[in-house]
Amino acid sequence: MSKYFSEKFSKLTPYTPGEQPKDMQYIKLNTNESPFAPPKNVVDAAKAEAGKAQLYCDPECSALKEKAAQVFGVKKEQVLPTNGSDEILLFAFMAFCDASTPVVFPDITYGFYSVFAKLHNIPYKTIPLKEDFSIDYRDYLGVNATVVIANPNAPTGMALPLWQIEEIVKSNPKNVVVIDEAYVDFGGESAVRLIDKYDNLLVTQTFSKSRSLAGARLGLGFASESLIADLNTIKYSTNPYNVNRMTAAMGVAALCEEEYFKDTCKTICENREYTAAELVKLGFKVLPSKTNFLFVQSDEVDGKTLYEKLKARGILVRHFNGERIAAFNRVTVGTREQMDAFLQAVKEIVKE
Ligand code: PMP
Repeated sequence: MSKYFSEKFSKLTPYTPGEQPKDMQYIKLNTNESPFAPPKNVVDAAKAEAGKAQLYCDPECSALKEKAAQVFGVKKEQVLPTNGSDEILLFAFMAFCDASTPVVFPDITYGFYSVFAKLHNIPYKTIPLKEDFSIDYRDYLGVNATVVIANPNAPTGMALPLWQIEEIVKSNPKNVVVIDEAYVDFGGESAVRLIDKYDNLLVTQTFSKSRSLAGARLGLGFASESLIADLNTIKYSTNPYNVNRMTAAMGVAALCEEEYFKDTCKTICENREYTAAELVKLGFKVLPSKTNFLFVQSDEVDGKTLYEKLKARGILVRHFNGERIAAFNRVTVGTREQMDAFLQAVKEIVKE
């Protein structure tokens, strides 16, 4: 740390993104990316915009908002495109939390929530998941705080039914409830259709997983017009051109590729069920996942050792050190070939 670094950030531990080692070609099952490249028309859309990169992009992202409004059945004033969904989550922490409005989220969830809270000095409380790693929605009823829930949750992969999300939103009318739907397209129930009914609901989604655009950085927020206006105040006070012109064009093109989107999600769900069943045969505990990853644990080999031995064989998965989850690994669901290579390596390691 330099002597110039602001005192207020000196104790901050930043978020650690999944590793991207360059020493060899890995089978990457550690950051929940799609194994499928974006379709040609999406790549072409970026190329067409790259030639105009001397010009600022449209800060309103009008074309993308219009397309998203059409695809998701909302008004364009109810949509906010951002630089990945991380950015809209950050905006939400800035807009809807402060010293007198704390934030609550599960103890085991997306690691960025606590980083955002600490970054902005927001008091936060975590609520333990149940013994089976599920969220008890009753813990979030009338909590007098901003609520942030990933549904499905990460890294567990487990989802709450929509009626339970609605109960949480309904019971907290004085506070914003943020539902992070980064993984919803792999079997969860989206709350987007509830935004007309509840003006305290913000739903966030991403193009990073189900739409094969992690590297383009594109997220969407859906909420009442008044919440979107608040979030725009934060956006225009930080980075008005937050979505670059290549990414905005890729987003529009990706939303025109519904068939590709549905096919690739279906394949990933099939590969997930196949991998889960094979791991169960090997004696693994596999949490029921509605995402593009599996959270898995074996009594034969501890979490860290499995992670290390897989890495030595060229397969990257994600291991977390948290007390309740250190025995687990989070495994992104890739192609059938990738999953077979992963399963073969696991079989060898378990035998050792
Ligand atoms: N929410 C959850 C639960 C995630 O796992 C991630 C991915 N790391 C994100 C949000 C953010 O994804 P992105 O910024 O790529 O949209």
